[in-house]
Amino acid sequence: MKIAILMCACSGVCPSMAKINFFDLMERLRLEVPHDFMVLHPRLCEENGEALMRDLLKPDTVYVTPACNEKHQMKLLAAGFSKAGVPMDDKHWIPVTLAQKDTDQAFADIKAAVEKAKGIAS
Ligand code: SF4
Repeated sequence: MKIAILMCACSGVCPSMAKINFFDLMERLRLEVPHDFMVLHPRLCEENGEALMRDLLKPDTVYVTPACNEKHQMKLLAAGFSKAGVPMDDKHWIPVTLAQKDTDQAFADIKAAVEKAKGIAS
């Protein structure tokens, strides 16, 4: 199994993510948290976000999804997973809540989720 980070920036203007520097966060993850690949999209729950997920998601990968809170992701990312034919279960999906966090907190939580994904992938 591969490990991918599929991050959503919520259009880049959501007040709940105002303390996150997404470019800084991505570069730190790239350098310090081994994973297979990372994607940042501005609105995964909109039509072209779902189109990306339909074409990108594969059943041989665990997806760590830093985005809105877990309950919202469960509802808002369901169509993308469904269109890709990938089950949104604990073998393929580990949500990370970005809301109300700063860059350091987001980094720590994504790092922990990738560690968890390694346990699933191995
Ligand atoms: S999936 Fe969540 S974080 Fe991404 S645009 Fe939709 S509401 Fe915002």
